[in-house]
Amino acid sequence: MASTTDPVCGMAIEESSAAGHITREGITYFFCSSACQQRFEADPQQYTRDQPGGTSS
Ligand SMILES: [Zn+2]
Repeated sequence: MASTTDPVCGMAIEESSAAGHITREGITYFFCSSACQQRFEADPQQYTRDQPGGTSS
């Protein structure tokens, strides 16, 4: 099984148990709940910004 991260709430989820998903610009995002999916749809850019690992600032 593949695990992924809900971009809205940051929760780790299994793709197979995701409540929903959206494909955007060739990337599929999975959501733990329809509420998270709706938040993503309302403002996708807020959640699709590149966030490379690390917290250099
Ligand atoms: Zn979520």
